Amino acid sequence: MMKSEELFERAVKRIPGGVNSPVRAYGSVEEAPRFIQRAEGCKVFDADGNTYTDYIGSWGPMILGHNHEKIREAVIRASENGLSFGCATEREVEMAEFICERIPHVEMIRMVNSGTEAVMSAIRVARGYTGKTKIIKFAGCYHGHTDAMLVSAGSGVMTSGVPDSAGVPKGCTQDTMIAVYNDLNSVRQLMEESRDGAAAVIVEPVAANMGVVPPKEGFLQGLRDLCDAHGALLIFDEVITGFRLGFCGAAGFYGVRPDLVTYGKIIGAGMPVGAYGGRKEIMEMVAPAGAVYQAGTLSGNPVAMAAGLVQLRTLWEDQEIYTRLCRKGEMLFDGIRKILMKKGIEYQVNSVASLGCMFFTEHPVTDYATAKQSDTKAFSEYFRYMLNQGIHMAPSQFEAMFLSDAHTEEEIGETLDVIEGYFSGI
Ligand SMILES: *Cc1c(COP(=O)(O)O)cnc(C)c1O
Repeated sequence: MMKSEELFERAVKRIPGGVNSPVRAYGSVEEAPRFIQRAEGCKVFDADGNTYTDYIGSWGPMILGHNHEKIREAVIRASENGLSFGCATEREVEMAEFICERIPHVEMIRMVNSGTEAVMSAIRVARGYTGKTKIIKFAGCYHGHTDAMLVSAGSGVMTSGVPDSAGVPKGCTQDTMIAVYNDLNSVRQLMEESRDGAAAVIVEPVAANMGVVPPKEGFLQGLRDLCDAHGALLIFDEVITGFRLGFCGAAGFYGVRPDLVTYGKIIGAGMPVGAYGGRKEIMEMVAPAGAVYQAGTLSGNPVAMAAGLVQLRTLWEDQEIYTRLCRKGEMLFDGIRKILMKKGIEYQVNSVASLGCMFFTEHPVTDYATAKQSDTKAFSEYFRYMLNQGIHMAPSQFEAMFLSDAHTEEEIGETLDVIEGYFSGI
């Protein structure tokens, strides 16, 4: 028996489903998850001595590659001074200044410990600021696991407030309205239907939790205009896209200015960090400056800040990284498109810069409903083949592939060879 299987057997007895986050489970691909021992650059090494080229990148944070020397050093140095004080530190000021001085739409920022917390807090601030309660989100967009955000779709366009999870009371989701990604009319209709309008529209500016679904031309600007017309705040959930599509995230990439933005993943470089920020007059609502309460014992943790700050500094100082990431994204995703074309297979490949995925469907994927048409069984087969050939991807059709600065053309080329091998065999 493989060590990973052995560990999984032990894990399921003591951890629900054997994992500490459901996306790590291999249930949908009918395997035991690989237990990872260490990682370096774009490679991960499992407990059985296998090496994989990694396209998970810890779900985004590892944009510079795993176990990056500068970040490791920063963490070691910071931890020598103590892990947490629960008091104000200079590095938190540096972190806030570093971001606010470089990202035009972030005038003030608050650090938290996860993307979930960042979104939960941003929504509270939006409601506090506008005095309204309704929130518009899009089917298929993931914004962490707070009660109000655990509504996704089910019955399509205009249904509002059916929770996705047991344990979420209807009361927690009745003010969450669900619109269709890339469909401005669905947003307009919700805005007009609700009596006092919405406090905020929250969106993944590139949806990356239903596979990768880019915004159509004009979609994000259209949201900006609708929010302005109806007195709602526009929240970009940039937990994935922030510092990835460019230093200024999707807002910079598409040239649309949100009122509030949420960060996670890359901002912590692998440490548990999230943040939310935006216009000063809105952020001044947050306690103790203002009346919207939000707190955190470990928020702005000195070790986490050290890691995140070094990562952000590296990204800022070497912005060629974004050109390189785009080139690698093109190489991988155009490479997959070419293979599919050659084989006469009409699966869809969606990508933006260093994010992308292949949908096992012949229909263009522009929203949740079209994403769900994918053949998840065909994906599972493909996934298992890839894994056995040393390619480590998220075990789900509905996740992105993440590239890092550590992926080389050689490794991407090898990955393409494996993909071609797969489609030659079926
Ligand atoms: C991962 C993610 C979150 C939640 O972040 P956690 O750190 O897992 O709580 C929120 N929004 C988006 C877009 C994400 O991808």
